[in-house]
Amino acid sequence: MRLTVLASGSSGNATLVESGGRAILLDAGISARETLRRLTVAGGADARIEAIVLTHEHSDHVRGVRVLARKLGVPVYGTAGTLQAIASSLADVPETVTIDRRDRFSLAGMKITAFPSSHDAADPCGYGFESRRGHRVVVTTDTGVITAEAAEALAGAHVIGIEANHDRLMLDTGPYPPFLKRRIAGGTGHLSNDAAADALRAAAWRGLSQVFAMHISEQNNSPQAAQAALARTLRSQSHTTLEIVCRGQIAGCSL
Ligand SMILES: [Zn+2]
Ligand SMILES: [Zn+2]
Repeated sequence: MRLTVLASGSSGNATLVESGGRAILLDAGISARETLRRLTVAGGADARIEAIVLTHEHSDHVRGVRVLARKLGVPVYGTAGTLQAIASSLADVPETVTIDRRDRFSLAGMKITAFPSSHDAADPCGYGFESRRGHRVVVTTDTGVITAEAAEALAGAHVIGIEANHDRLMLDTGPYPPFLKRRIAGGTGHLSNDAAADALRAAAWRGLSQVFAMHISEQNNSPQAAQAALARTLRSQSHTTLEIVCRGQIAGCSL
């Protein structure tokens, strides 16, 4: 099983989840051309992408979905609210498949579990992916708080991609207008470093091999601040590798 973060953050999100040569693209927030270029750079160009699965409708997660779905000839999966919100861009994709925020379904040889996230979108969710061998990858970004269902999904994961969007102090003292600060820090905004650290503390176990800190804000966070907050949590987990995925960076791991 392999996870490759092709892009992460407010300028675009796309992650490839592969198992046994078959793959799913989680979000398509960069252009189709750039997604395919990054796939080649990451060595994932020959993975057979069988579907695009969306977390929510914000443009940094769906910008490339129409062209990419058509180019790859694959269906687009998302909740009713997500698909509805971008219906016009999905009018001519090969197929759309509506899922529930708590759905379990099979795709590309993996068992997928959706779980609700808490974000200012129509019907947002995160996903867990389980390979035939029982390896589990969970990705949760764009959520103001870790929902009970997300916490449940994170427990027992071997690889976690978790949002570490902002440092609370940097956000509070930073340049954003008050309404935007409130939105980001609110219960339906984005996860802070400390909240991500708390979630990791709860989810850490001996089988957790890799953590990717994702959706890092350029204005309200720094790689150092995210590293400090999350590494503290994982200090006793010497077998867990932590990687802070900065803007434009490609990151990945295999199980
Ligand atoms: Zn986002
Ligand atoms: Zn969002």
